[in-house]
Amino acid sequence: MTDTFEIAVFEGDGIGPEITAPTVALLKQMAAASTGYDLSFATLPAGAGHYAKTGESLPKESLRIAGEADAILLSAMGLPDVRYPDGTEISPQIELRMAFGLFAGVRPVNVRAGQPGPLTLPEGREIDFVLIRESTEGLFYSMGAGEVTETEARETLRITREVSEQLFRFSFDLAQSRKQQGRGPGRVTCVDKANVFRAFAFFRGIFDEIAVEYPDLAADHAYVDATALWMVQKPWDFDVLVTENMFGDILSDLGAGLMGGLGLAPSADIGLKQAVFQPCHGSAPDIAGQGVANPHAMILSAAMMLDWLGIKHDNAALRADGARLREAVEAVVARGDCLTRDLGGTAGTDEAAGAVRAMLQTAQAA
Ligand code: NAD
Repeated sequence: MTDTFEIAVFEGDGIGPEITAPTVALLKQMAAASTGYDLSFATLPAGAGHYAKTGESLPKESLRIAGEADAILLSAMGLPDVRYPDGTEISPQIELRMAFGLFAGVRPVNVRAGQPGPLTLPEGREIDFVLIRESTEGLFYSMGAGEVTETEARETLRITREVSEQLFRFSFDLAQSRKQQGRGPGRVTCVDKANVFRAFAFFRGIFDEIAVEYPDLAADHAYVDATALWMVQKPWDFDVLVTENMFGDILSDLGAGLMGGLGLAPSADIGLKQAVFQPCHGSAPDIAGQGVANPHAMILSAAMMLDWLGIKHDNAALRADGARLREAVEAVVARGDCLTRDLGGTAGTDEAAGAVRAMLQTAQAA
């Protein structure tokens, strides 16, 4: 009997529903054509729009169903004008990370040779690295609990041994698997500010302890400021980078910039049991409702979801479809004749997603 995987879907705010619909349609189409797996979808309420209507940002029932699902697919949540009384924004996507202990924020950065982008790559060079952003503590630990007086504001950065060990093992395992696939040399770089802060010296120390468990892999360190420079000057040198939450938040947008924009940047937030797959971008309220949002980051996130489910459940069909979906998006972007406005084209959301659907069919027929 075919295994059916339950996917919890958060359509989110702004452009969220516009990019979710074609992504879920692609997933349904792939599952219908596969004999190796099936998918079922449960769309759950949450987000700034939901908060504005009901006073609740992440209903308990949505959290329960998401926790029991096999994976969670999320577009983007939050609207700048909808805020809690303390002035902060509605961010259920961050609450999910905390609720499910999704410590590893996986941000792949890929630029194929010839793909248009802000950097001119030297002959024969491609960018293919993964940034791992710790996603449950660091400077985000004090989210919503910072102390503010008339004269002073304080936020607390927290780094724990338990989460750091899990994070570093995850990073080395990923480097191992990339090495096996011929995608990287097998090197993990710990990105920190250990020259200034004791918390980062602690972080680095744990990294070095875990590195010893992986004698076949290389381990090195870099300061976060230099890493920002090198991500622009020689991004092809990186394999797996691992860093604290706030540093990762900033560097992952730089990674998205290397790919030509947020519209091409997927992500996964992975824990020991549960995982959320979502584009790096936000709800883009400035273009919401116009049908012009780029769906590719969301589709690439869905491809990461299929791959993760495939690895977790040892299901080759899921893994193969994850790779096919990613390659179809890459081929559409490389061809360059059906791109959305953010990538310099004129295509709408549905056209861009339609090009991926057509590319999948072409690849299958070949
Ligand atoms: P944003 O990522 O929504 O938008 C930044 C710029 O990129 C905008 O000009 C937008 O039009 C463009 N853009 C983003 N995604 C695009 C896409 N798929 N196609 C084409 N263009 C795209 O960031 P922001 O404006 O800082 O935030 C808007 C809202 O989203 C805020 O409420 C913020 O809190 C929220 N947000 C949510 C998440 C998340 O859910 N993970 C992440 C970041 C921001």
